[in-house]
Amino acid sequence: MSDLPSRAQGAVLGLAAGNALGLPFESIWPASKIRQVTQGVVREIPDDTRESPWDDETAHFALVAESILETGDIEPRDLAQRLIRWRDENGRGMPVLLEKVLEEVEGDVPVLEASEEVCERLGKNWSAGNGSLVRAVPVALAAKGDRIRLVRMARDAARTSHWNPLCVGSTIALGLALDDLLQGREFDPASLAAEISSLGLPETVSQAVSGARLPLSAFQLDGKQKGWAIKSLQVALWAARAEGTVEEILERVILEGGDTDTNAALAGATLGASRGREALPERWIESLHDSSRLSDLAQALSR
Ligand SMILES: [Mg+2]
Repeated sequence: MSDLPSRAQGAVLGLAAGNALGLPFESIWPASKIRQVTQGVVREIPDDTRESPWDDETAHFALVAESILETGDIEPRDLAQRLIRWRDENGRGMPVLLEKVLEEVEGDVPVLEASEEVCERLGKNWSAGNGSLVRAVPVALAAKGDRIRLVRMARDAARTSHWNPLCVGSTIALGLALDDLLQGREFDPASLAAEISSLGLPETVSQAVSGARLPLSAFQLDGKQKGWAIKSLQVALWAARAEGTVEEILERVILEGGDTDTNAALAGATLGASRGREALPERWIESLHDSSRLSDLAQALSR
């Protein structure tokens, strides 16, 4: 049985491992094509991962974590400044929507106004991407079981760039599920769906949470709206309850295609939060870029 420090590290290292495992297949989105290329086996993190900068999901974890540790909260302005610095350093894998918001912020539009404005400009479909969900991981660690604080922080973290209510709702839902797992509780889709409804979040989000009981194929990850926040939320929640080893489950997620690196990163986070660091293959952790920094941040946030 894992303890909280192990689950906290598991969430973060699982995120980074899933991110790295799914990354090579990000642009080969049909599942049939990925199966053909991999012959159905995705178990190894690419050799160049250790030397390369973090991809956006892992980079996001670190910069949101650093912002929370410094400000004690989610401060959209501080977060946006860190995102701009990261973009200028390398910005590897940065979502287009985030790029547009940061351009506005640099033009002196206040962060939340910029986020709302870009969301309106893109329209409700194009603005519902999965880019904010990863912020639920540092937020859930920092909230330490205080669900009211968690909801507020997840909302502000999502809204910093992803104003769409589906993005905000999905980020909150993932944060609450992670909180259950980090506290060593089983995550129950029905009660989480009821909690989401009681918070006044979109019905689409509570339906997606209830749907975590469905088989993975039901989410049609390589179908339309493949980078949709709702789909990534579903796969992350599904993974937390899936049977098999972490290797088997992440392989299944990636072989379904779609936005493979984000889906596997979020599934890795829920798996690690529920099973602890010990459930992750040690060779994966050794292959990651600066895994000790990720562990340190997980520990500092959850202490
Ligand atoms: Mg990515």
